[in-house]
Amino acid sequence: LGTANLVLREIEEHEPRAVVLCFGPDAADYRVELFAGYHSERPEVPDRLAPLFADSRAFFEAFGWVVHEHNSLEADDVLGAYARGEAAAGGKALVMTGDRDMYQCAKENVTVLYVKTGGGKGAEEVGPAEVRERYGIDPALVPDFIALRGDPSDGLPGAKGVGPKTAAELLRQHGSLEAILDAAIRERRPALRAALVEGKEDLLKFKDIATLR
Ligand code: MN
Ligand code: MN
Repeated sequence: LGTANLVLREIEEHEPRAVVLCFGPDAADYRVELFAGYHSERPEVPDRLAPLFADSRAFFEAFGWVVHEHNSLEADDVLGAYARGEAAAGGKALVMTGDRDMYQCAKENVTVLYVKTGGGKGAEEVGPAEVRERYGIDPALVPDFIALRGDPSDGLPGAKGVGPKTAAELLRQHGSLEAILDAAIRERRPALRAALVEGKEDLLKFKDIATLR
């Protein structure tokens, strides 16, 4: 019911021609294979919630919404694919999510509707300008940013000692994680140099994990 109400509020506000709800496994196998820590700290679905998920398809479909359940890709990936497809077809997409990983989708004709739990206000509209304002980088670099900064909620440690400011600074200077790693040996700060040189392989995996399929 909570989800239905959140979605209904956004429908009233934006009047989309179609609504798709995306479901998938909590942690895609390919992501866990890249890094065993990915989503490893996530709690199990509570017993009382599991049957609600099981019944939710019919409930949501009764509103005329499309439910897309994927058995190997995560909901993130499916949402991103729909948004990309709609924009490529000349339409506009709103990606409603509580997951900031999805900031990577923001571009012309794709806006993230970022839902914060609590507060009771509607979702925030996050486009490319808002991503730049919040992270200091372009949306396309969000996976590089996540790899460097880390993401505790996803079990990704990031580069040792690197927070959001340094991650954004490095990306603005070099343009991509790969370019940062190529130049790492010339980094003047010894701790940062060591974190980048020694962390190289893991950091590339984190970027791959954070990149939507
Ligand atoms: Mn995610
Ligand atoms: Mn996440």
